[in-house]
Amino acid sequence: MTLPPTTEATGDRVRLPLRAGLEGLEPYGAPQLDVPVLLNVNENPYPPSDAVVADIADAVAKAAHGLNRYPDRDFAELRSELAEYLRAESGVSLRPEQIWAANGSNEVMLHLLQAFGGTGRTVLSFAPTYSMYPEYARDTLTGWVTGRREQDFTLDVDHVRAQIAEHRPAVILLASPNNPTGTALDLATIEAVCEAAAESGPTGPDGAPTASVVVVDEAYGEFRREGTPSALTVLDRYPHLAVSRTMSKAFGMAGLRLGYLAAARELIDYLRVVRLPYHLSAVTQAAALAALRHRAELMSQVASLRAERDALVDWLRGHGLRVAESDANFVLFGLFDDRHQVWNGLLERGVLIREVGPEGWLRVSVGTPQETAAFKAALEEVLGW
Ligand SMILES: *Cc1c(COP(=O)(O)O)cnc(C)c1O
Repeated sequence: MTLPPTTEATGDRVRLPLRAGLEGLEPYGAPQLDVPVLLNVNENPYPPSDAVVADIADAVAKAAHGLNRYPDRDFAELRSELAEYLRAESGVSLRPEQIWAANGSNEVMLHLLQAFGGTGRTVLSFAPTYSMYPEYARDTLTGWVTGRREQDFTLDVDHVRAQIAEHRPAVILLASPNNPTGTALDLATIEAVCEAAAESGPTGPDGAPTASVVVVDEAYGEFRREGTPSALTVLDRYPHLAVSRTMSKAFGMAGLRLGYLAAARELIDYLRVVRLPYHLSAVTQAAALAALRHRAELMSQVASLRAERDALVDWLRGHGLRVAESDANFVLFGLFDDRHQVWNGLLERGVLIREVGPEGWLRVSVGTPQETAAFKAALEEVLGW
């Protein structure tokens, strides 16, 4: 078959008015390679069961009958089911008006920065942390500054207070458990940050200081170990605290694109102002509701993934490697003089992990027992154990 000549215009005669700061940038994304064992993006390794698939298909078919209409802009039913899920998962009761949702927690974060960030404002985070955060800042014209995490990747509260005082951030982004380190923050730290943030934001229109919005990104919250509390448990004390979650990780629905957030109603109402109309499609809403009905089954996988994670940590430590404490479904381990060589050696053996984090460290997601076994066997070969 011969293709018709291309009708695509080229940039020979005109130059597109790309926004300053975007020149030469590549779209973000972990390398996607076609190998047998994918342990690089912290997905849940278990595909949905036939029962879940059938329920989602059924719900989507019902929604399809109404696709000539715009969806429920405020997704009332989904908000109330997400509130119910959080109550079951963390024991915290929230009203549906305290829940927000969007196409992945990536979009939830974007809404937060659209509402509270912007020109002349700053978002503060602590490195090493999630590599998408600076992109949300860039895309909303918000300044990006980072303080540091300690050697064990926790936060030093005095350092945090000093950074807050210095930068007067509109938003403070804390991932807990943190990516790529797996570190969960204790409640005392989160409370201390919230206390320090009550009047540390930009000056309001009346000349008085506003709060910094403290966002605790609990994308991996369900994987936290026994005794590690969720920031949800202090939500009722801080109107400037927002806790985000996602169905992408523990829930095993990365392809669905559904992230959500819990906060005081006033904060949520500001997010409603900046969202695109009808941002959550009727298909997404129907599929998410159907998946949530199966939460008991999905949560039972979380228990086995946590056990698998703890065993992997022990195994790596048993071989003399350094391993960061993990409350997530991945493990950061090292230290290697040449981490790229280790990463590449694993890849040559069909195991893709992630070369991320501070120099010398590598991150591996917790997979099925078979995938973990393949990872261990490959690592043994690469390191000559
Ligand atoms: C994976 C991840 C998310 C999830 O993003 P989604 O858009 O919900 O898929 C959020 N925050 C962190 C730190 C993550 O690692």
